[in-house]
Amino acid sequence: MRASVQVISYSNVLFFLVSFFWMASSNAQNEVYTSDAVLADTTFVNLKEYSKDFIYDMKYATEDNFLKAKVYDCAECFLRLKTVQALIEANKDFMKKGYKIKLYDCYRPLSIQKKMWEIVSNPEYVADPKKGSIHNRGGAVDISIVDAQGKEADMGTPFDFFGIQASHNYTKLSKEVLSNRKFLKKIMTKNGFSSFDSEWWHYNLKTGLKDKVSNQKWECD
Ligand SMILES: [Zn+2]
Repeated sequence: MRASVQVISYSNVLFFLVSFFWMASSNAQNEVYTSDAVLADTTFVNLKEYSKDFIYDMKYATEDNFLKAKVYDCAECFLRLKTVQALIEANKDFMKKGYKIKLYDCYRPLSIQKKMWEIVSNPEYVADPKKGSIHNRGGAVDISIVDAQGKEADMGTPFDFFGIQASHNYTKLSKEVLSNRKFLKKIMTKNGFSSFDSEWWHYNLKTGLKDKVSNQKWECD
């Protein structure tokens, strides 16, 4: 009699332990993949795991950029969680008007910033790595918008055009271009981002300016 009681209590303990570890492991999965609540908003996350509604054209994962070199091993858009959340809200506003955000660059390791500075040592276009860019802090994005057919709105210059024509203050542009830039700026500003005078494509999350510079690299599959 006593032996069978013990068997029952062992199996109860076993059941309890199995349940506990199952719950613990499913909670651990939630932390990484599904729940924002348990993640600090400064955690670096991959945008594609939070939304499927963005278009990617990650120029530094190709040779089609001013460095003329593929400096990212793969095209991923990592940002701090708070930047991702604000960007998703901005994208919802664009989608209501028939557009989506297209991304050119997101988080950028500090080592890449140094390479960029060696080529363009002009703080109007590339941040001095001694100070670090907001890209290095996971709070900046380089973007444009595309319509339902995937056609990019005319912004007057290509991305990373290092000249006065890329500036928000430059107004000798067509009405369409001025209106597209204004539209981009209006929605981004409404969602917590600030524009950067010399580059129509660059937006900083206002609450991300003082986060730490990072030099971590992301994993590629
Ligand atoms: Zn930028």
